[in-house]
Amino acid sequence: MSRSPDQVIRPEILALSAYHVPPASGMVKLDAMENPYTLPPELREEIAQLAASAPINRYPDAGAASLKAALREALAIPDGMDIMLGNGSDEIIQIIALAFARPGAILMSVEPAFVMFRMIATFTGMGYAGVPLRADFSLDVDAMLTAIARQQPAVIFIAYPNNPTGNLFDADAVSRIIEAAPGVVVVDEAYHAFADASFMDKLVQYPNLLLMRTLSKLGLAGLRLGLLAGRPEWLSQLEKLRLPYNAGIFTQLIAEKVLQYPGILLQQAEAIKTERTVMSKRLVALDGVEVFPTDANFILFRMTQGYKAGKVFQELKKHGILIKNLDGSHPLLKNCLRVTVGTPAENVQFLEALQASLKTSL
Ligand code: PMP
Repeated sequence: MSRSPDQVIRPEILALSAYHVPPASGMVKLDAMENPYTLPPELREEIAQLAASAPINRYPDAGAASLKAALREALAIPDGMDIMLGNGSDEIIQIIALAFARPGAILMSVEPAFVMFRMIATFTGMGYAGVPLRADFSLDVDAMLTAIARQQPAVIFIAYPNNPTGNLFDADAVSRIIEAAPGVVVVDEAYHAFADASFMDKLVQYPNLLLMRTLSKLGLAGLRLGLLAGRPEWLSQLEKLRLPYNAGIFTQLIAEKVLQYPGILLQQAEAIKTERTVMSKRLVALDGVEVFPTDANFILFRMTQGYKAGKVFQELKKHGILIKNLDGSHPLLKNCLRVTVGTPAENVQFLEALQASLKTSL
């Protein structure tokens, strides 16, 4: 007897929309928090040679020992902590959720937050609790503590800085949440390169803290490499759920090679931070745009004075500029757009297109 998907697939999966990646061919792509810069030609040449001689008939090193050693050093992972690699940090979020998923178990985050927290809770059959941020996107600690006491979340994800708002939460507020949590707290530092704060050194202090990083926003999004740092007692359990060989041979070889020249990616991050200041100032100077503070490689802004985010977004697309329209995704993001900081030339193109769009968008 044949069965249709809606008879056998879980209703919450049937109700989901797949994570949407908009087509960007030929556009100035400022929608996905990528680093706009490429690697210097000499390093690309070294990578080409590595790739050419890679033994791709064999599985990659399952433990990625050499790459892990390089990451430990580059990221200054505290002594006594283990690390686990993922196919991007997305996969790490999924591994964590898989470990905690059981009927009634709750994954908690703030709202608005990175959408994969909620989506992966659903994938793995966990309940999701999103505690709203305040209107200025700061952490509502009292609301979080109340929600923690009531819902007893197995795991809490806090992005530091937060996506899509771009701000860094108050560190004491995050610490209070870690102290109150009955389960683990994952501090997701995907945007660490653009902020001046980290919970890395708090790993030693808090036994229920896990810290997540990614190479994606640093300039290696195409490699898909995320990392989780934490105590061996947690990581040894999570390792059981990591699929063998999740970091492919090119990912391992290339990431390790690039990490031999840490200055390159860090200089690019500095250039992005400088451009972020320039771009924020230019945005602030525009009528009809409210700009929010950011510690990440993107800027959140709200259309005001009657302008509609959806219309401006479409107008920008007509000018060949792709950013992210967040209007409708959460009440706090009403009429909001998010732009990734690109190269100086791309940012000028964006700002000029935005100015032109404002003329036609009322
Ligand atoms: N965490 C946050 C807060 C993010 O914004 C993103 C990417 N948008 C990720 C994790 C996932 O990054 P990746 O899977 O590329 O490591």
